[in-house]
Amino acid sequence: MTYSKEIFSQAYQLMNERRSKADTLAQKHTEEIYSKYPEAESISRQLASCSISAAKAVLRGGDVKEQLGLLADRSMELQARQKAILTSEGYPADYMEPHYFCSACKDTGSVEKDGKTIYCPCFLSLLKECACEEINRLSPLKLSTFETFSLDYYPKESTPDTPSPYLRMSRMLAYCKEYAKNFNGFGKSILMRGATGLGKTHLSLAIANEVLEKGYYVVYVSAPSILSKLESSHFDYNSNEEEHLIQTLCDCDLLIIDDLGTEYISQYTKTAIYNIFNNRLLKNKPMIINTNMTIRELESTYSQRFASRIMGECDKLDFLGNDIRAMKKN
Ligand SMILES: [Zn+2]
Repeated sequence: MTYSKEIFSQAYQLMNERRSKADTLAQKHTEEIYSKYPEAESISRQLASCSISAAKAVLRGGDVKEQLGLLADRSMELQARQKAILTSEGYPADYMEPHYFCSACKDTGSVEKDGKTIYCPCFLSLLKECACEEINRLSPLKLSTFETFSLDYYPKESTPDTPSPYLRMSRMLAYCKEYAKNFNGFGKSILMRGATGLGKTHLSLAIANEVLEKGYYVVYVSAPSILSKLESSHFDYNSNEEEHLIQTLCDCDLLIIDDLGTEYISQYTKTAIYNIFNNRLLKNKPMIINTNMTIRELESTYSQRFASRIMGECDKLDFLGNDIRAMKKN
């Protein structure tokens, strides 16, 4: 696992907040019950004294089996009485207990497995969430939805050479809605091709929005900015940022790379993009790639191998027509 120290401390902080929220609420409930039903408080004191007696008995050593058995029975009896007070007054039986977000680790972030302490899956999930949020901090994620995507700007007329842009776009919109609806973290990637201003970014962000709503981790990056960041950290020998970024780009549930082909092309960026792409394909993790390049341009800019893998592995959506952004301004 290669997350940065900052991501680890953010995740720990969130974990601690969860735990203390659950503990504080339980404490509040306990005080409420004690003030209303003093017997409940007396039972809690007797329960505490039972466990102290049990600990003392163990420390004294010898044959304490019988004594411990008696104490356990007494403790069960007290707990049952405590619960009976709560339920007879209309409270849930566990009203005074903390309700943790994760019952496996009680919001501590670690669990025991085969005699070893390991990270709880809930903590790994928090790490992933923090890392994705870090990359997305300045991205336009959450800004576009399917509802704000208007078909009105696409002409309905068709010519013998070009089908109606309206019809074509309606089909692509329906495809994207379906893709978002069925998203489960695995499966097909999408290649959106076409000139700037035809709705590629809007539709990919609309998919992202729905997928985020379903609780998946989405990362949106523009190719020029992420690749220049990766390249500069690659040559900064004092930084592990490249490794951390690549881990998140490869691990998130949906990766959206916008404007592929507009980055500064170098041997490094070509290799980096291919490796990220390949790593995700091997794990069957989906991507949405937006580009205004043709297949020929993809081949000549990157490599034939890269272009043919993209073409083979992705569903292709071709955006044709006039710049919608320019039309909206008029
Ligand atoms: Zn947990």
